[in-house]
Amino acid sequence: MDIPRIFNITESAHRIHNPVTPEKLAVLGAALRMEPGTRVLDLGSGSGEMLCTWARDHGITGTGVDMSSLFTEQAKLRALELGVADKVRFIHGDAAGYVSDEKVGVAACVGATWIGGGVAGTIDLLKRSLDAGGIILIGEPYWRQLPPSEDVARGCLAQSISDFLLLPGLIASFGRLGCDVVEMVLADQDGWDRYEAAKWLTMRRWLEANPGDELAETVRAELTSEPVRYAAYTREYLGWGVFALMPW
Ligand code: SAH
Repeated sequence: MDIPRIFNITESAHRIHNPVTPEKLAVLGAALRMEPGTRVLDLGSGSGEMLCTWARDHGITGTGVDMSSLFTEQAKLRALELGVADKVRFIHGDAAGYVSDEKVGVAACVGATWIGGGVAGTIDLLKRSLDAGGIILIGEPYWRQLPPSEDVARGCLAQSISDFLLLPGLIASFGRLGCDVVEMVLADQDGWDRYEAAKWLTMRRWLEANPGDELAETVRAELTSEPVRYAAYTREYLGWGVFALMPW
């Protein structure tokens, strides 16, 4: 079981697999005012940077579940590197339907809400692991500006304009799902550059090391087209944020 190999190639050098920078991840960790010992569950934990740095900086304990074996291995190595291997554990597996044995103070899904079939389903899933008074974290895109056409939405790799909301609309939608929005940290275009542009050097180096690979043509085509596509569409139209929610 794994995610499509292309992501394990293009994001192999990423510590954070979304437009949030290390600085903003630290801001979010402080914003949540977590007590030492707070349990955190992270569905789609990627390479584990959120849990590992928060374990180091705030003394939380954590469980991450991720379907990429590469990212999960990287998460375990990062925990060792930061000296928090006794505080966090990383499980390789499908997080769909995952509910923790012990209730947690923070239940997160940051940039992987398809795990619960969308934002609403993911909030429902995370709620099942959440302690009374706990906080749900949802990382999700929104339109910085509404695309003027469906072609522009597709340029952002969305299926359609209706895939995402504007920021006020996204915030309002959390209310309709029965949650207060109690904090948020938003990515910016520099953060998008760190997420997207970092793939380009990774792809170039991978191509030099793996010219005969079955995915070489795909990666070559992506490296050729991605910088312009990203600058024209995603960078201009797509926003991204992590929203802290407390259910009523
Ligand atoms: N939250 C992390 C990773 C976000 S990228 C971060 O911010 O860095 C999305 C992640 O979801 C990837 O790591 C991918 O491997 C993982 N993923 C995709 N489908 C999944 C599933 N069904 N179950 C668990 N993880 C999944």
